[in-house]
Amino acid sequence: MSEKTIPYYWSSIDWAKLVEDFPPPPYFDAAMARMSDDGLRELQNARFLQRMQDAWRVPFYRERWTAAGMESGDIRSLDDLATIPSFTSEDLKHATENNPPFGDHQNFALDAMSTPLKIQSSGGTSGLPRPTLFDPVAWEVQAIQFARAFVAQGAQVGDILQITLTNSLANTAWCSSTAALHWSGLVPLTTGSGAVTSSVRQLELARSWGTSGWVAFGEYLKILAETAETAGIDLRRDLSTRFIHTYLGVDTDGHLRRLLQDAWGAPVYDNYGTHEVGLIGYECQAQDGLHVNDDTAVLEIVDRETAQPVADGVTGNIVVTSLHRSVPPIIRYDLKDLIRREPRARCGCGARTTKLSGFLGRSDEMVKLRATSVYPRAAQDTVQGDERSTGEFLCVIDNVGAGISARERMTVRVEAKRNVDESALHQDMTGRLKDLFGVKVDVEIVPSGSLAPVTGLGGEGKVKRLLDLR
Ligand SMILES: [Zn+2]
Repeated sequence: MSEKTIPYYWSSIDWAKLVEDFPPPPYFDAAMARMSDDGLRELQNARFLQRMQDAWRVPFYRERWTAAGMESGDIRSLDDLATIPSFTSEDLKHATENNPPFGDHQNFALDAMSTPLKIQSSGGTSGLPRPTLFDPVAWEVQAIQFARAFVAQGAQVGDILQITLTNSLANTAWCSSTAALHWSGLVPLTTGSGAVTSSVRQLELARSWGTSGWVAFGEYLKILAETAETAGIDLRRDLSTRFIHTYLGVDTDGHLRRLLQDAWGAPVYDNYGTHEVGLIGYECQAQDGLHVNDDTAVLEIVDRETAQPVADGVTGNIVVTSLHRSVPPIIRYDLKDLIRREPRARCGCGARTTKLSGFLGRSDEMVKLRATSVYPRAAQDTVQGDERSTGEFLCVIDNVGAGISARERMTVRVEAKRNVDESALHQDMTGRLKDLFGVKVDVEIVPSGSLAPVTGLGGEGKVKRLLDLR
């Protein structure tokens, strides 16, 4: 028998305080509408200073900050935030490699084990995925963030929410089911991905059990729509879908959203989140930018090269400071995701929060092609806007030539539907991608379905759009 005291989940949280601090729906919208800009800043500032205290106790931060000449009294308020060194996922990777198994930013929690903990991980491009520990507060606040999104997207008490992501290492599925069960009165139907419950069975369950809302990646919604057609299920007539919670990727012109809304006959809502910080932004029924969970995170948008703050409305890297997380604290995490921010304003839905554009690409995927900066994921809109393509694509980057003539090359592989004129598609894609990127890229037309083994379409996790062979 262990001599350690069991840290029970039920007694590990002051639930009344949690609900007061991080209002679940429907209270969040009203709280945010009531709060002045100064009031919000004050709330964020108080939470930020608590998180700074947590972080000074953590070797990862203490060592980095001390090396940069910081002392614990230097940071007096959020006004000083930009003077703190930021970090990236590479820094977390090194921290984990040097201090196994979970890194000196979070090993402390497992040593003490004074609270229940859960391990989730985010996809790494090589080696083991990056682990993150969650204590009950981090776990429940992330679920509250998702519950706010579902209700803003039209979820009603008693609705069945079909979650087509598997409860596995990644946390989106877990956040969704916890949000449904704990914080929004929805009935989670955890079918998992198509690899766990076949796409036909997913649709049959939705039809028989009356699914109202879906949590699914955009690519999987397309697969379900194709499956429905083959199986003789009419998505509009046979299902009772009222809302779809998804992640559209770079959908600047809205091609993917329109395609999905047409196929499903229901509104499709975009969201943006990260493994460590949770759901940062979500669309409401107004579909007019993503509401930020302003009480759980402070966002900075910085120039991708100079790291200096950019004005609202200008695209840059998002740098996140979590206001709720202690295990581990997250202070100025440069996610390398490109995004735009709009100032706090009253929305048609009644809430008053900061807003974000959708996800606009990853700055660390930038390719220099003949001195032009290219963000490969931006190809999504062009490819999905052409009906002759299945919408599936993969950008392959490699080096060609040697010595002084060495250069980087990008080839966009585009899937064609059956029986289309491939040479016309090739010509049009080449022209449109040149207009988009401002530089010519190679285009290769490939058969329908051929990219799935590389992109991971239909499997677990996010679809891969970039194959970097440099
Ligand atoms: Zn709104």
